Amino acid sequence: MEALLEFSSRLSSAPPQGASVLIVPALNPDGLLLRRKNAASDVDLNRNFRARNFSRQHAPGYDPGPWPLSEPETALLAGIIDGQAIDAVVAVHAPFACVNFDGPALPWARMVAEACGWPVRENIGYPTPGSLGSWLGTDRNIPVLTLELPPGPLDDFREMAAAALDRACFGAPDFLRPKSPTTTATTTATTKNATTTARSTVNPPKIG
Ligand SMILES: [Zn+2]
Repeated sequence: MEALLEFSSRLSSAPPQGASVLIVPALNPDGLLLRRKNAASDVDLNRNFRARNFSRQHAPGYDPGPWPLSEPETALLAGIIDGQAIDAVVAVHAPFACVNFDGPALPWARMVAEACGWPVRENIGYPTPGSLGSWLGTDRNIPVLTLELPPGPLDDFREMAAAALDRACFGAPDFLRPKSPTTTATTTATTKNATTTARSTVNPPKIG
């Protein structure tokens, strides 16, 4: 969350041209407060999206909730993404120190990995049914980056996190910048003791 707030203040002093960025600093405020991955309901929010692979079957600690978007946090984010016609999403997680992606986001993931030094990983090593990446990346073909920060305090990796977020937002490949003016949105949630963020590009423009 701290990394995102710092990113927000950089954005407000130098907004990206032709795009809007929406930032949700903490999509899982209860988990953030409790310093744990799951929400207060003990649902893993990143298993609760309306993806085709949503499943009630789960490993211990990864309860997907009773049905897709059963949780207020995921319902809110889905409303934003659908309502704003988001073009791209950056989710900020921890603690794997890598750049994970879903959908048509490999060139973008490589650029971000180059900026921060953490490797691109196409999957995280275990299945993630009902995740944001499954829903938007796999089902809808929207580029989704999941920036996995390292564990521990931001002081240990502030520059790398800043480089990754700045590159994700300002250095996005051309395919993320439609000819017509565009809006970008950013969203954040909390996962694995740390903070989860997402950045997205949105149509249509109504800005400056
Ligand atoms: Zn994660």
